[in-house]
Amino acid sequence: MKSKIYVLIGPPGAGKGTQAKNIANLKDFVLISTGDLLRENVERKTELGMTAKSYMDKGELVPTDLVARMIKANIKANIGKNGFLFDGFPRDLSQNTLLGEMLKEFDLEVDKVIYINVKDDAIYERLTNRRVCPKCKRVYHMKYNRPKHDEECDDCKVSLITRDDDKLDVIKKRLEVYHSLTQPLVDHFEKIGKISRIDGERTPREVEAEILSVI
Ligand code: ADP
Ligand code: AMP
Repeated sequence: MKSKIYVLIGPPGAGKGTQAKNIANLKDFVLISTGDLLRENVERKTELGMTAKSYMDKGELVPTDLVARMIKANIKANIGKNGFLFDGFPRDLSQNTLLGEMLKEFDLEVDKVIYINVKDDAIYERLTNRRVCPKCKRVYHMKYNRPKHDEECDDCKVSLITRDDDKLDVIKKRLEVYHSLTQPLVDHFEKIGKISRIDGERTPREVEAEILSVI
């Protein structure tokens, strides 16, 4: 059976990472999060990570050729699995063309794009209060999705961290990049009828239920 291909798209802070981890677990999908993969490279201080960090710290997109290499390796290693869930890729129209070409090699194509929509003012509150487990990458919010013990991952029991790019000026830049480069991609998927729009300003449970109803 052909692998199903789903893409999660939305502004930074929409809840893509939160949902992606749960949905991939529940549906047994291979999760490909370019943000997490890039941050792993930054932590390991690989050549890719060192180059990527200078873009990420400024809230800019990392050059597509660097991201593409990681993606291709991941698709190849997991071909034949139940399905793939992409979080954070494609990020603009050119990355979408590239993804199409990569999938075509395996006779696959994007089946559905899930667009989680959250307004800009809610995003600032979400991202300035976001904490992440450095080990398992689980995402918390210090008001809406608190860890059981202060600033400690419920699962790994290690101290949570704040992402380097969750600073006001970088968040502002990431939103600008989203509106100028990613929004046209949303419009494209809308035009070709592949998008399911989901209101992301509800509880994580409600958002999850709606995503599950469309995949
Ligand atoms: P993205 O991957 O789209 O950047 P995250 O999943 O990391 O977004 O979520 C951003 C922040 O918002 C995190 O602190 C997360 O705990 C919180 N969050 C995620 N979904 C919701 C929601 N439905 N309601 C309130 N806060 C949420
Ligand atoms: P995210 O974890 O999706 O919020 O991404 C964090 C940062 O990683 C972004 O601001 C970009 O600098 C970089 N990044 C993640 N995915 C991509 C991508 N597909 N293309 C280019 N840069 C990316």
